[in-house]
Amino acid sequence: MKISIIDNSNYAADKCVNGGNYSFTVTYQQIAANKFAVLHSTSAEYPYCPFCGSFYRDICPCGMKGPDIVDSETVDKEITCARERLARGEELEIIIVD
Ligand SMILES: [Zn+2]
Repeated sequence: MKISIIDNSNYAADKCVNGGNYSFTVTYQQIAANKFAVLHSTSAEYPYCPFCGSFYRDICPCGMKGPDIVDSETVDKEITCARERLARGEELEIIIVD
């Protein structure tokens, strides 16, 4: 199972690469029964750390060597939170692939 939560609240199609209006995606990739790897990405072309979800120069200062691993309860909470934001009218996309 793979869950992607795409935050488009600051996204603009004509400025999504280097103009300052990017989308940000958090993906929860299932790697075991109750384990999900957390990966971050963005529409921006700049270096963006997939592990901590920050822009960086040269090397990300977070020092992470791999993705965070969370359990399904944490993923469920994130999905619930994203659905609530969606219900409030925020520009969010939730993609769940079995
Ligand atoms: Zn980082």
